[in-house]
Amino acid sequence: MTPFTYTPQSSRVIFGSGALARLGDEIERLGARRALVLCTPEQAASAGRVAAMLGERAAGVFARAVMHVPIETAREAREEARRLDADCAVAIGGGSTTGLGKAIALESGLPILAIPTTYAGSEMTPIWGITEAGVKKTGRDARVLPRTVIYDPELTLTLPAALSVTSGMNAIAHAAEGLYAHDGNPITALMAEEGIRALAAALPRLARDPGDLAARGDALYGAWLCGSVLGAVAMGLHHKLCHTLGGSFNLPHAEVHTVVLPHAMAYNAAAAPEAMVRIARALACTDAPRGLFDLAARCGAPTSLAAIGMPADGLDRVAELAVTTPYPNPRPLEQAALRSLLQRAFDGQTPQQ
Ligand code: NAD
Repeated sequence: MTPFTYTPQSSRVIFGSGALARLGDEIERLGARRALVLCTPEQAASAGRVAAMLGERAAGVFARAVMHVPIETAREAREEARRLDADCAVAIGGGSTTGLGKAIALESGLPILAIPTTYAGSEMTPIWGITEAGVKKTGRDARVLPRTVIYDPELTLTLPAALSVTSGMNAIAHAAEGLYAHDGNPITALMAEEGIRALAAALPRLARDPGDLAARGDALYGAWLCGSVLGAVAMGLHHKLCHTLGGSFNLPHAEVHTVVLPHAMAYNAAAAPEAMVRIARALACTDAPRGLFDLAARCGAPTSLAAIGMPADGLDRVAELAVTTPYPNPRPLEQAALRSLLQRAFDGQTPQQ
């Protein structure tokens, strides 16, 4: 057995259909009296429902979460938390909303209770991200890890089929990279393989019928496991490429992950054979990168960067940026090879090792 270090996460997880009903007890358990409820403008109705459930223990609703946590929004939300004398943030939504909660916690240490409604996985990580002057800074801080997470598959029933699939692929990406992380361990490997298996089985069912509650439960369970892997180990090339593509060209987060993942896996395949065996086993296929490409295609997800708004003349810049700051990756970063990876992803070709 290879030596390893394993640090368990300290969040409390409540999982199950109808689990939202446990909110009051969980807020009580946190000792909170004045919760500030966070959401995007699109999810204001869900946040209103949460505030109504909390009654007097809801201090207010801040419904202005947006993608990538602009510093201006973070400042407004922090100010609102101070003004209302909030002692807890309840984030109901996807990674953008959880991210806003984290921006508040980073400054004030306010505990977060997260109620995820996508598969992005931010709720299981101590990773924060804030965008200032067009640049997204990220970091790790134990204070931003939500104390309590309520996973209720019923809340994901409204997530459109297309976003369900790409969000699920985003989750799979955390687990796939976690399988070759230099700081991985046997527990994260188990979680990663099981997370990919659960999502790969659920996504085609959701693509056919987004109202399939059993599939919703399986997908959210997989997302929890994949998010836990993201929170525990270092990510590599795939996340770096997606961060650069999303940040520099304002491309939709989950779609970028969906398109790039098979290609990033193909780039690393020969350098990470054990990870590929586990991914292929979880996908019930023989070739991991191809299996990921086929899963996305079968579910009707985009398979080319061109289709999601990437300009062709930006590919050189992304390949350059991908090799400028070093980060852990099983295969050394070679600009020319990365440039051809990006071209294949741009054109929507199948992944090639
Ligand atoms: P998102 O939170 O931006 O949500 C996308 C859209 O879907 C929003 O309009 C939202 O209101 C809507 N939505 C969410 N759940 C819904 C539901 N159940 N029904 C209907 N609509 C719903 O998207 P995301 O992909 O969850 O998060 C992306 C962001 O999260 C990115 O900024 C990314 O960098 C960040 N992220 C951070 C981490 C981390 O560990 N810090 C991890 C993953 C993602």
